Order: sequence, then structure tokens, then C-alpha cells
Amino acid sequence: MTCAWEDCKKREYRASKYCFAHKEKARDRWKELMAKKERGRKDRDIRFSKIQADAVEAGMNAAKKCIPEPMYVEGVKEIYKVDKGVCGFAWVVHKPGNDSFSYWARKNGWERHYYGGVQWWCFDFGQSMEIKVAYCQAFSKSLNEAGIKAHYGSRID
Ligand SMILES: [Zn+2]
Repeated sequence: MTCAWEDCKKREYRASKYCFAHKEKARDRWKELMAKKERGRKDRDIRFSKIQADAVEAGMNAAKKCIPEPMYVEGVKEIYKVDKGVCGFAWVVHKPGNDSFSYWARKNGWERHYYGGVQWWCFDFGQSMEIKVAYCQAFSKSLNEAGIKAHYGSRID
């Protein structure tokens, strides 16, 4: 077989697919390509970190503004007012789970979502579902605006 380098007619060097001279050049080209890829990954990680930080900020701002509808719980003798409203959970989902954002997310606080994709669970704001929903709604909207697909879900406890 001849060397795989363009227009080179020399014979392959041992197990290499290049001739002796081009073997070294090919290795340098490969190293350069890997370094470029690594720089690309770093740039992307920085971009995802920024997108995530913006989403958290948007969520926190929405949570601050949210005033939950009080919930009234009937006790044995009286009715209790629960200022934080209905108890529950809320989360944000991004799909698909095999894109570059998902790979980054899994290393940055997101979990695997049971129904595919990755999930950002809202751990803050006690049990107030309404505040959690406000947070997750703003969080996912912020991701969407940055070009990252996301939606939120919630469940009453
Ligand atoms: Zn060659």
C-alpha cells in the first residue's frame, strides 16, 4: 500500500498508513486537531456555565416575586392557614439526554430524568410548590431563550 498522505506515492512505513516522513506530520496534525477540539470543548463548557447561571438567576428572581396563594388546612378544631400554599415539587427537564448540553449538565448538578433527558430538581423554597414552579418556569424560559430546549414539571405532594 502507498502512503495515505495526499499525493504521496511512497510506501507505508511498517504498521503506519503513512510513509516515514508523513507519519510524523500526520501525528502533529492529529495533535493539533485534538488541541483544537479541547479548546472548543472548553469554550462550550464556559458557554453552558453562563447559560446555567443566567437560568438560576432568572429562577431566583421569579421566586422572589412569587407570592403563593395561601392554603387552608382543616384541623380537628380549627382551620389552619398555610402561607406558603400548596406543598409539592417542581423540576426542569432537558431532552435529548445525549446532546452536548446533557453531557455537560450531568457533571453540573443535573440528574438523569426518569423519562429520558436530564432533570434539574428544585431543592429550594421549602415545600412551596407555587414558588418552585415560578422558579422552574423562569429557569426553563431562560434556557429556551439561550437556545437550550427545556420544560418544567410539578407535582403536588
Ligand atoms: Zn508519504
